[in-house]
Amino acid sequence: MTATWTVVRLLGWAAPYLESHGSGSPRLDAELLLAAVLGCSRLELYLHHDRPLDREELAAFKALLLRRRQREPMAYILGEKEFWSLPFRVSPAVLIPRPETEHLVEEAIRIIDRHYPEGAFVVDFGTGCGNIILSLAAHYRQRPGYAWEGIDRSPAAVEVARANAERLDLAAVTWRVADLEAAAADPARPWQLVVSNPPYIPAGELAGLAPEVRQEPREALDGGRDGLDYYRVIARRLPALLPAGGWLLLEVGAGQAPAVADMLTAAGAGEVARVRDLQGIERVVVCQWMP
Ligand code: GLN
Repeated sequence: MTATWTVVRLLGWAAPYLESHGSGSPRLDAELLLAAVLGCSRLELYLHHDRPLDREELAAFKALLLRRRQREPMAYILGEKEFWSLPFRVSPAVLIPRPETEHLVEEAIRIIDRHYPEGAFVVDFGTGCGNIILSLAAHYRQRPGYAWEGIDRSPAAVEVARANAERLDLAAVTWRVADLEAAAADPARPWQLVVSNPPYIPAGELAGLAPEVRQEPREALDGGRDGLDYYRVIARRLPALLPAGGWLLLEVGAGQAPAVADMLTAAGAGEVARVRDLQGIERVVVCQWMP
C-alpha cells in the first residue's frame, strides 16, 4: 500500500523535520518551499490541501528541504526577498535585505522631500542587490530631476543589482563596480546624498552568527576588528564624497551609533542625528556635511 502525499500531509511531515534541523520558522519555511514547487501562493496551499503530489513534485520539494536543512537562507533558496514592498532577486553573491534597513530608506526620503524637492543625485555605497537605491528610485519614479547610482566592489553583486533594476523597470539608476576609496576619488559628479549599509559586524563575531547568516558573503558583513572600518573610511573621505550641505545616511549595528556619530563629528560634520529601529536600537546615523 502506498500512501498518497497530499499538501496537508506533506506539510505536517516537513515542518517538524525542518524544526528538528534548527529552522526558527519551520511551518512557514515548509509552506513557502512547497508553494514554490507548485508555483502557487501559500493561501492556495490551504485551498487545495487535499491535492496529491506527483513524483517529480515530491522530488523537487525534497531537494529544497535538503537545502533548507543545511541552513541555507530561505531567500537564497527562493531567489527572492521582499524589501520596501518590492521583490528583489538575491543570490549568495549579495547580503539578504533586512527589514531594519527600510529605516534608512525612510530617512533618505524625508531628507530628499525636505531639501531636494526638485531633484538630487544620490549614491549608495555597497549596494549589494540594489535594494536601498532601487527603493528610492521607485519612490521617485514619477519625478524627473533625480539621478541614482549604486556602487559595489563586487562585480557579482552589481550584476544582481542590474538585474533587479531591469526587473523593476528602473532604468534611472546607474551602476559601478568600485570600492569606496576609488569611487570617492572619482565621483561621476557631485552627489547630494550618500547612503550606505556597510559591513559592520566585528570580525571576531562572524563565527558566532547563525548558520544562515554565515552563508551570506563575508565581505558584506565583516567590518574589521571592531566592525567600524568602513565608517572610518567614509568619515575620512567625507570631503570627497559630498559637497558642503550634502547629506550622509548610514546604517549601523547595535551599539555602534555613538562611536560612528563621534567619528563624523570629528571629521567636521554638522549635527548628527540617530534614528531608532522598531526594536529601539539606534540603527541609522544621519548628518549634514558642513565643513
Ligand atoms: N544586519 C546584518 C546582520 O545583522 C548585518 C549587515 C551589515 O553588516 N551591514 O546580520
